[in-house]
Amino acid sequence: MRTSYSAIDTYRQCPQKYKFQNIDRIRVPKGREAIFGTLIHATLKFMFTSDPLFPTLDEVVAHFREHWPGREAFEAESKHDSRKTALSAEEEKAYFEEGVKMLKKFYEKNAPWNFTVLDLESRFEVVLADEKTGETHILAGIMDRIDKLPDGSYEIIDYKTAKRMPAQTALDDNLQLSLYSLGLQTRWPHIKPEDIALSLYFLKHGEKLSTRPNTATTLKTKEHILRTIAEIQEKIRSNKEFEPMPSALCNWCGYRPMCPAWKHLYKRTKNLELRTKDEMDAIVKEYFEIKKAEQKNEVRLKELQEQIKDYMRQEGLTRVFGEQGIISQKTIQRYEYDFEKIRSLLSPIGRWEEILKADETKLKKIMKEIPASIRNEIENARKVSKEYTVMSASFKKP
Ligand code: SF4
Repeated sequence: MRTSYSAIDTYRQCPQKYKFQNIDRIRVPKGREAIFGTLIHATLKFMFTSDPLFPTLDEVVAHFREHWPGREAFEAESKHDSRKTALSAEEEKAYFEEGVKMLKKFYEKNAPWNFTVLDLESRFEVVLADEKTGETHILAGIMDRIDKLPDGSYEIIDYKTAKRMPAQTALDDNLQLSLYSLGLQTRWPHIKPEDIALSLYFLKHGEKLSTRPNTATTLKTKEHILRTIAEIQEKIRSNKEFEPMPSALCNWCGYRPMCPAWKHLYKRTKNLELRTKDEMDAIVKEYFEIKKAEQKNEVRLKELQEQIKDYMRQEGLTRVFGEQGIISQKTIQRYEYDFEKIRSLLSPIGRWEEILKADETKLKKIMKEIPASIRNEIENARKVSKEYTVMSASFKKP
């Protein structure tokens, strides 16, 4: 299978999005953040390209201004997704100014002539062999920048336009960076892992976080990728569902109008095929009314139980009678057994094994702690025993 880190990451975030993007190959207009991020990346590439001199800060800003997309690029998103409002002229101006601020901050700290840049937007491929299946997979990706440092080592830099900066511990475990180090070593096999620095540059903050590749993370990256590929292939083979996983990320997902987790919200403005909008509205309304009444009743039931219990305790009763029926109270005792003792009694008669039941909750807990090879074997040995649909209701307004 040929794939990329971002595809693997998308699958982990939401299998349905992965399917839309990589299997159905449905193209949707880029969101404002993606348009902005792409242009910032392109401008930083321009900044480190000497022709024959490196551009000045004014030239960098001018490049950003000249390539700023037209209104249509920003409007495409709201035309495609009726629940998204079009970017207003003020918002667009704020985006543009934010970009200029980022670039200025970056240029001040990173004058291009101070670095030995080896490659920009550098494409790489990593070949991963799955020993279990005998298959070989190719993972492609792009590294924003590769520098040679004064001490002879190398640095891979990935630019981030996001607001959130991860903690250093999360960076040490970063799968994307770890894959980049594999990519660099594949491309230039003479480079040793200890001679590579892996950095994320947070443009909004003007801060760079760095780490070094380590064998444990590299192994984990390979396992994670192979496990994900195997899961995707299995789903395709057995025609299984790529289930949607709604989260805050849906706000930035271009597939929302066609996603099974959201499309009803969009259909509400049109006629539904199976039921009219009014019919469906009435069903959902009644469902929520019953849910609400259920919650209210549950609270009241508890209060009444307490009052009845108090009354029984004071009057020394175990049952009370009303016209509608009888309410009884009985004490239930739960026991704790001494299992060492029980083992000594049941083992000699060969019945001990029968009561040792596998415990799934405990298994899930130890899965996080056991070696990956055993974990994979266990995962491969599992099978779906029962599949059912659960329904949940949230009083939150979409
Ligand atoms: S809208 Fe959300 S749930 Fe649907 S595909 Fe996109 S990320 Fe997944």
